[in-house]
Amino acid sequence: MRATRRHGFGTRAVHDGEEPDLGSTGDVVTPIHLSSTFARKWVDRPTAGLEYSRTGNPTRSALERRLASLENASHALAYSSGMAAETTILLSLLEKGDHVVAGDDLYGGTRRLFEATMRRFGVSFSYADTRSAKSVQAAMTDKTALIWLETPTNPLMRICDIRAISRLGRERGAMTVVDNTFASPYVQNPLDLGAAVSVHSTTKYIGGHSDVVGGAVMLSDDDAFEKLRFNQNALGAVPSPFDCFMVLRGSKTLHLRMERHSSNATAVAEFLSSHKAVSVVHYPGLRSHPQHSLAAKQMRLPGGMLSAELKGGLPAAKRFLSRLRVFTLAESLGGVESLADHPASMTHASVPSAERARIGITDGLVRLSVGIEDEADLLADLKSALG
Ligand SMILES: *Cc1c(COP(=O)(O)O)cnc(C)c1O
Repeated sequence: MRATRRHGFGTRAVHDGEEPDLGSTGDVVTPIHLSSTFARKWVDRPTAGLEYSRTGNPTRSALERRLASLENASHALAYSSGMAAETTILLSLLEKGDHVVAGDDLYGGTRRLFEATMRRFGVSFSYADTRSAKSVQAAMTDKTALIWLETPTNPLMRICDIRAISRLGRERGAMTVVDNTFASPYVQNPLDLGAAVSVHSTTKYIGGHSDVVGGAVMLSDDDAFEKLRFNQNALGAVPSPFDCFMVLRGSKTLHLRMERHSSNATAVAEFLSSHKAVSVVHYPGLRSHPQHSLAAKQMRLPGGMLSAELKGGLPAAKRFLSRLRVFTLAESLGGVESLADHPASMTHASVPSAERARIGITDGLVRLSVGIEDEADLLADLKSALG
């Protein structure tokens, strides 16, 4: 699926992958093709290349063309969840005995997949502070086949230098995978910075409305794409045509939503950093963020995610979270509505507590996914919950 790179992001988000079919009905919007199988005229030739819906589906193909275009990739593959996308990457690109260097501040489910499942198949993992390319280098062995990054990291909003780490990986024969869920393709394009693979939970910003679970992989390496496509069909973790339609629909407003997520999150970060109940705010858009200039270099906008440390520890965090009215206390992120999370007891509860303490995920840390509501209402909600 070749992307068109002629147009700006907004034009591609609205149009790419969805050309009206003037040969038949002229639908402006890609239909939800529910058929599980496709009739053929000839035994040896599938009609329009379609055989069976796990292998290929027209609604999914439209979504995959759109996703490739948004990430400036030659290819994209859609999956039934972000975890299904990750599983397919690991099972497609790794052999028994391979080693992976991953960030130590990863999405909890990714770490669980690595530790509880993939280790059983003879793949080993090391965790490094990916803020420094040197610490990634120190963790690499001659078996390292993948470097797995998140940037910004979850929930501490640390930034990895995608360009420097991808170059290091290439020199040592390892592919760099960036989980780009937190940034979204509007904010950051890892492949343009040298990464081999971008992976997304489309459940978050790309879908954008907290109403569908999905995942995607975008890449330009033809060999890796063929392996992933083979396993999209062989492992079978494909999204339903309806889910593909939902993600395709959500993706059309990604650029508009990210602008508003970012401006609201900037206002929230500034408000929280001046509040006496808050000791530190982690947001790449703040000048006080230790990697503000690296973030400004590789991200178009600072995005909608931030975390903050409350001075009163666990009791203060619990009280704050229970008093929010516009923000909803829930896991997940990236939807139009603002969400609040307590990483130590919710999203990161599966990370052992000693490890949480080492990384800096304290009991007073709260994570916010700032939505696209009115800024004044969000600030008033935070002010009254902290008061
Ligand atoms: C949510 C998330 C995932 C997992 O995606 P699902 O769609 O929930 O399977 C992976 N990485 C990050 C950064 C996420 O936020």
